[in-house]
Amino acid sequence: MKIANKTVTAERLVRDALEKAKHFSDYHIFTFLNEENAIKKAREIDRKIAAGEKVGRLAGVPYALKDNFLSPEGETTASAHILEGFVSPVTATAVKKLEDEGAIMIGRTNLDAFAHGSSTENSYFGPTHNAFDFDRVAGGSSGGSAVAVALDIVEFATGTDTGGSIRQPASFNGVYGLKPTYGCISRYGVVAMASSTDCVGFFAQTPDDMDVLMSIASGQDSKDMTTLPDYYGSAEPESTNKRRIGIIKDFDNESVDPEIQKALAQKVELLRSRGHEIVDLSMPSLKYALAAYYIIVPAEVASNLSRYDGVRYGFRSKESTTLNELYDNTRSEGFMSENKRRIMIGNFVLSSGFYDAYFLKAAKARTLIIGEYEKAFSKVDFILTPVSPNPAFKLGEKVNDPIAMYLEDMMSVSLNLAGVPGLAIPAGKNKTGLPIGLQLVGPRRSDKNLIQFSKELEEND
Ligand code: GLN
Repeated sequence: MKIANKTVTAERLVRDALEKAKHFSDYHIFTFLNEENAIKKAREIDRKIAAGEKVGRLAGVPYALKDNFLSPEGETTASAHILEGFVSPVTATAVKKLEDEGAIMIGRTNLDAFAHGSSTENSYFGPTHNAFDFDRVAGGSSGGSAVAVALDIVEFATGTDTGGSIRQPASFNGVYGLKPTYGCISRYGVVAMASSTDCVGFFAQTPDDMDVLMSIASGQDSKDMTTLPDYYGSAEPESTNKRRIGIIKDFDNESVDPEIQKALAQKVELLRSRGHEIVDLSMPSLKYALAAYYIIVPAEVASNLSRYDGVRYGFRSKESTTLNELYDNTRSEGFMSENKRRIMIGNFVLSSGFYDAYFLKAAKARTLIIGEYEKAFSKVDFILTPVSPNPAFKLGEKVNDPIAMYLEDMMSVSLNLAGVPGLAIPAGKNKTGLPIGLQLVGPRRSDKNLIQFSKELEEND
């Protein structure tokens, strides 16, 4: 808007964003800055505006791209050594849609390699620092994108959420983060982690910005057979009057930090005072979500990562004399230990002797979880829960303890297994000034109403 009204040029906005990105270089947010192209594109938009030509809804708006989205601008590494040097010949559908509306990518953001993690410490390039406390993690896997928005370098950033990778870093850095309904936004051109739970989504500073981004990026794509026919753009916002909000009573609330529990209780009171009905829900199957997730996701990871063999993409080990050695050496040197752990677990749970005991059981648990969400949404319009059991933890605190790291995801993964949307919303700060996030969960295809309703959780001060 500011640009179309000629109060500022696109070039100025892009230069400011690049300047800020450099100013915060210690935070290790970006893996690549797109200086030359971004300025060129901004000038083109300024020229169009000066000539009275039509420009898109995001004309000249700088944004940050999680480095697991393919585009020919810069290397797409997914913060993994094995993809270093890989410049994509194709552009992800989501990127294309944003750029068609005039958005300008100023840089690619850091993540846990292949999006495996909850802290961005699994990045080959080193961790990103939290926007509120330099000694703490940014969250993950989309840590770079969350911090880029939290430090106001850009107004929005892309993310992917397979089990919490948008919502958890959003909550650790006090911004909005949306994991849409599975299939709402095309996954074409996004480095695959677990194809049945991967979702493309965004970090933004306000619900209204999120709405604009969703109306641009959502919709069916012939290049991704799992995309749903467009429902977002055509949805009529429902009135936010008198909704029924579910609170999950039998979840493992003990393990949730008391200050997060307090923030939840305060929002519940706020909703009640605004005339909404609070309904206690029992969802006993959710306690199996984490275990099911850490079987199903590694199984899909193991297949999706089998394509990185040193022949087709990025890095190739130099030490090999035979083809098998080339595969072995490239994969041994190119993957991070968390990637390897998931490949091992994934192949184990799919192997003939263990398939029934692990993968099949997890798939059955997933069906129960899907059913439980369906039942819940026959009683309530939305569910409100914490995003994670604690605020941002210290760098180094959990990185050598995979189970502790996995437990971070206990409240986020069930949404991905069920395919339902979740919006992380800022819900104040704890005593030490760290942001607290809550997530609003809705039934499939309720994304627009979810975003709309999240405004009811804003305090008027
Ligand atoms: N933290 C979760 C994991 O490590 C989620 C990752 C994601 O959503 N990409 O699997």
